[in-house]
Amino acid sequence: MWSNVLYIDLETGEHHTRDRSDLFDKYLGGTGVATQLLLEECPAGIDAFSPENPVIFSIGPLTTIFPCVSKVVSMFKSPMTGEMGESHAGGRLAMAMRFAGYDSIVIKGRAAKPSYLSIHDDEVKLKDATSIWNLSSVEVTGKILREVEPGKGRRSIMRIGKAGVNQVRYANVNVDTYRHFGRLGMGAVFGSKNLKAIVISGTEEVELPDMPAYKKMYSKLYGEVVDTEVMDKYHDLGTAANINVLNRLKGLPTKNLKQSHFENAESISGEYFADNLLLRKIACSNCPIGCIHIAMLKTQFQKGHEFEVSHISYDYELIYSLGTNLGITMGEDVLRLIDRCEQHGLDIMSTGGVLAWATEMYERDLITPPDTLGLSLRWGDTDNYLKMIDRIVEMPNKFYQAMAKGTAVAAAEYGGEDFAINLGRLEIAGYHTGPASIVGQIVGVRHSHLDNGGYSIDQKASSQQLSEEQMVDKLIYEDYWRMVNNSLVCCLFARGVYGEQNMVDALECVGIKKTRDELEAIGREIFLAKYKFKEREGFDIDKVSVPARFFETVSQLGMVKKDTVDNMLKLYRKKTGI
Ligand code: SF4
Repeated sequence: MWSNVLYIDLETGEHHTRDRSDLFDKYLGGTGVATQLLLEECPAGIDAFSPENPVIFSIGPLTTIFPCVSKVVSMFKSPMTGEMGESHAGGRLAMAMRFAGYDSIVIKGRAAKPSYLSIHDDEVKLKDATSIWNLSSVEVTGKILREVEPGKGRRSIMRIGKAGVNQVRYANVNVDTYRHFGRLGMGAVFGSKNLKAIVISGTEEVELPDMPAYKKMYSKLYGEVVDTEVMDKYHDLGTAANINVLNRLKGLPTKNLKQSHFENAESISGEYFADNLLLRKIACSNCPIGCIHIAMLKTQFQKGHEFEVSHISYDYELIYSLGTNLGITMGEDVLRLIDRCEQHGLDIMSTGGVLAWATEMYERDLITPPDTLGLSLRWGDTDNYLKMIDRIVEMPNKFYQAMAKGTAVAAAEYGGEDFAINLGRLEIAGYHTGPASIVGQIVGVRHSHLDNGGYSIDQKASSQQLSEEQMVDKLIYEDYWRMVNNSLVCCLFARGVYGEQNMVDALECVGIKKTRDELEAIGREIFLAKYKFKEREGFDIDKVSVPARFFETVSQLGMVKKDTVDNMLKLYRKKTGI
């Protein structure tokens, strides 16, 4: 039904479109189509910063049509891992792509000078970005582009900050201020292409084959989203509610995973944020939930009670990575650290992981003031962490250059690999729940907790006594079905609503007839295609080392044994064929 792909060459500024129904018919959209485009467009073995590395965006057949189908998949070769780079973002981008009439966008080449892309319906222009290239604030870049570009109301603005310009390997791409393509370094790939920003808007209308059937299905899904308890938690305290819960269960990584509970969790908990700092909640376009929690931070800039106010979005992962993981004891300090990363355009989960590793290195005298350029690192020292974040972006010496490449690279150079908390070269999410979380992040195609939700399988295992094999079966089920979900591209927070049957029925409303078994087979095929790319680029599960720290700190399910992880990995490989 929708299969229009926009191809842009930054070198020449030329563009063209192609109908790729060959891909959309077979792989639905989103992650399924983006994977095929990546296999087509990314030459084997290239450097992630090569002009030939494509940046791909894809939406799906339900985008903007049903509630919470609000995300865009991006794909590229990752400078963090050297293999599959995939990240998802909300905001207004999915809507803007649909209204502009592009189901995927493929960007290749390197612009001759700092540039940004301005895409409004059929008009695609490469514009000069010299004046905004070195701006120190992502927020200000957005403000300027909002002033000079048309399309207000049906527009989305992506941009990078200083971290992307300087090619910090975990630089993010900011989407519409409060959303991001966060993980795996797409911001650095933008920087390598001299691409500062993309503005996109459109005016197309969406037509559907059977309006009465569509309205009925829409009402059903809308009812499940807003009238049931499935998504309540996301709106109320938001994911930040997990801080107190995981702390109680001993599943909250703290101080570089030296602990799995934090003695000061209460003052950075979701409850503390909601009671003291929360200002408002907002939503991605086409989402009736509104899980994006915005806090207000007052900063005194002059004596005499003169304040400036910042609006900062927060969630569980951010509070874990810049809070518990660094021993920060006040919510306001967590916000200061989040704000600094946001202004630079840094992935916060990776930044927190790198800072935590460096703090432990300093504690053990494995790095010293000449490395840190005089900064002493102590758990909970917000002011020094702020300075360190600035230096990661500026990279004034070899040590900061190593930090800008991520925990795995920095540890290979400076030591401390036993406590360099990464899996598959990516800093972990905030769950030390048990073996399924560890195995899930190793085998996940993007080494994300969102690939298969291993943490929630551990949580089920704590009440249902799951065997190793049962946990592996659940991981595989999630891996395949989330491929389908991410091809449509529904927000994963709504996965309780978009179950198997609802996906089949919703697709039928837009004229796509697939059975439940056909969808599962598509999910598996996409999963294997991703592994084809990963292996082509050198990924080998047998070479993933799990830092000893994972087996030394008690998890929600007790101490995790290395044998358990090894057995589960073997089972996983046997059952999936990877
Ligand atoms: S639940 Fe949250 S992240 Fe998901 S679409 Fe809605 S506002 Fe966006």
